[in-house]
Amino acid sequence: MRFAAVRAAVAEAVALALPVSCAGCGAFDRAVCRACRAELVPAPRLVVRDRAGTALTAWAGLAYRGAVRPVLGAYKDGGRTDAAPALVPALAASIDAALRAAAHRTGSAGIELCTIPSTPSAIRARGYRPVDRLLARLDLRAARVLRPIAGHLDQAGLDAEARRRNASGWLRARGAGGRRFLVVDDVLTTGATLAAAVAALESGGAEVVGCAVLAETPLHRDEHRRRSSANSP
Ligand SMILES: [Zn+2]
Repeated sequence: MRFAAVRAAVAEAVALALPVSCAGCGAFDRAVCRACRAELVPAPRLVVRDRAGTALTAWAGLAYRGAVRPVLGAYKDGGRTDAAPALVPALAASIDAALRAAAHRTGSAGIELCTIPSTPSAIRARGYRPVDRLLARLDLRAARVLRPIAGHLDQAGLDAEARRRNASGWLRARGAGGRRFLVVDDVLTTGATLAAAVAALESGGAEVVGCAVLAETPLHRDEHRRRSSANSP
């Protein structure tokens, strides 16, 4: 029995009836309080990661900082599925931006969404697939054409270097040939996970029209640039 799924469903139902602590700041309020929700208002932007000389680009709905971190963390790993409605707009905004960009470039015909699978142990622990669950709230369904290759580790808890090693070539695409995909994920950090998904889809004969993530971890040099441009007249 998937008890984690049962617990998540109960938490969601209880949250409808009772005030709970905010998933972002812990205030005794709604699932996500007004102040934290203000930090979840989407601001989609195109971000770039250099992956071994190749530019990986993705649309991100939010920067992964401030209230975004605890709310998304509580949703993904704390069983706080009641925080989902507060996260959906940012994912919707990044998908929308990515689809517009793709349509402009290559036409929008036949584009499907593709999410990246969690490890079986992560799915068991959570009881749900975080990104697919957000998509369901938008009446969207992602194609499940990516499968993890047996033996790889969950990315959570690995440092950046270990993630890079772990993430290269850990996915395989099945039945993806001749199809067009927009890859959708929750958080973009180094881009290793998205790069692995893109590589698996392309080597499976699919066309990848773009990537969309809920939030992006700003790189230090982006931070620096933003700060210095904010300080300059
Ligand atoms: Zn809050």
